[in-house]
Amino acid sequence: MRHPVPTVLLVVSVFGVAFAAGPREDRIAKAAAAIEAQLVATRRDFHMHPELSNREERTSRVIAARLKELGFDDIRTGVSKHGIVALLKGGRPGPVVAIRADMDALPIEETMDVPYKSQNKGVKHACGHDVHMSVALGTAEVLSRMRSELAGNVKFIFQPAEEGPPEGEDSGADRMIREGALDNPRVSAIFALHTKPDLEAGKIGYVLGAMLASSDTLFLRIGGKKVHAAWPHQGIDPIVVSAEIISALQTIRSRRIDPVEPMVLTLGSIHGGNRHNIIADEVRMEGTLRTHDEAVRERVMSLIKEIVNGIAASHGATAEIRWSARSNPATKNNTPLVEATLPAWRAMLGEPNVIQVPPVMGAEDFAYFERAVPGAMFWLGVGNRAKGITGALHTPEYDVDEASLAVGVKAMTAAVLNYLDRKP
Ligand SMILES: [Zn+2]
Repeated sequence: MRHPVPTVLLVVSVFGVAFAAGPREDRIAKAAAAIEAQLVATRRDFHMHPELSNREERTSRVIAARLKELGFDDIRTGVSKHGIVALLKGGRPGPVVAIRADMDALPIEETMDVPYKSQNKGVKHACGHDVHMSVALGTAEVLSRMRSELAGNVKFIFQPAEEGPPEGEDSGADRMIREGALDNPRVSAIFALHTKPDLEAGKIGYVLGAMLASSDTLFLRIGGKKVHAAWPHQGIDPIVVSAEIISALQTIRSRRIDPVEPMVLTLGSIHGGNRHNIIADEVRMEGTLRTHDEAVRERVMSLIKEIVNGIAASHGATAEIRWSARSNPATKNNTPLVEATLPAWRAMLGEPNVIQVPPVMGAEDFAYFERAVPGAMFWLGVGNRAKGITGALHTPEYDVDEASLAVGVKAMTAAVLNYLDRKP
């Protein structure tokens, strides 16, 4: 799939502002086209050598070496383990805008037979972070050639462990922020993209406000009393109690929270008992809570406590409720920032290729960056139904149409230049 450089001057009027697809868009498009083969090679290299969360050693080395080649002014490695923060100083004074790309892969076996098949058994870039890094490096290259006209500085943040570090370890977006990724110099806005397989390559999708959900992991333990199954009155059956709890928890969604507020509570795992004729001594359950609003999140957590403890107590059972320390707030785009960037995206990619999409209940730790500074994450279409590229995120069949790489570079470059030119 190709995206021809517009040869006519395209004028789009958005929010009363006329934006012309002029010489600069042409130059960005040409620069992105010129590095297309390299973008594909970079993506395939990352794809063939995926590394799990907090283990991104090789990935980090490759990125640092590339940034050095591009003549970056300041490259800090080892931020939050394998993270990198690098600065590209522009030729003119101005603010600092950041681009964030995540680095880790998933414990998923690759089943596709492709030339760039994962060489690391049982590990796969199944969430497109290989694309995110390649686009960021491509954008670094294009912008490094436009240095003299940059009215400010661009900070590149390569972040490990987006999928969550192994239990007992710390890393990811919040730790990068704690280790100063947004400081020295202070970042005033941040952009990121995420691949979207159900959006066709060539297009990007944007969301105003909440784009992705908060995510919290719930652990429940219902304690009963083990007895012979034929004498239930002498014990306490945690399976019967759990059945009631599971049903009651679903009434939070249907009866306790405003129907127009996004919220999901899923119990994805339940274990209890070991034999047909013995009443179990305990049931353990695990679940996930997703919301778009902090107040809803807190309200649901308190309702879960009330319901679980109340039902358990009414049967003489015990209940333990625990939330994982690893959680994400909702990813909330800064609406004025997205709206201000839209004209640049439309001029760069063509108006029909920049579409508004609804929010979803997946989660992303980019949320932490967006809580710290105004941010915008947008979806990069990577699907191609005609070529059969439709595999969903986090599945063994996930793949991308590599034509999306240059589109990502164009969208990211246009967003950054637009931000610096506006001198917010
Ligand atoms: Zn992801």
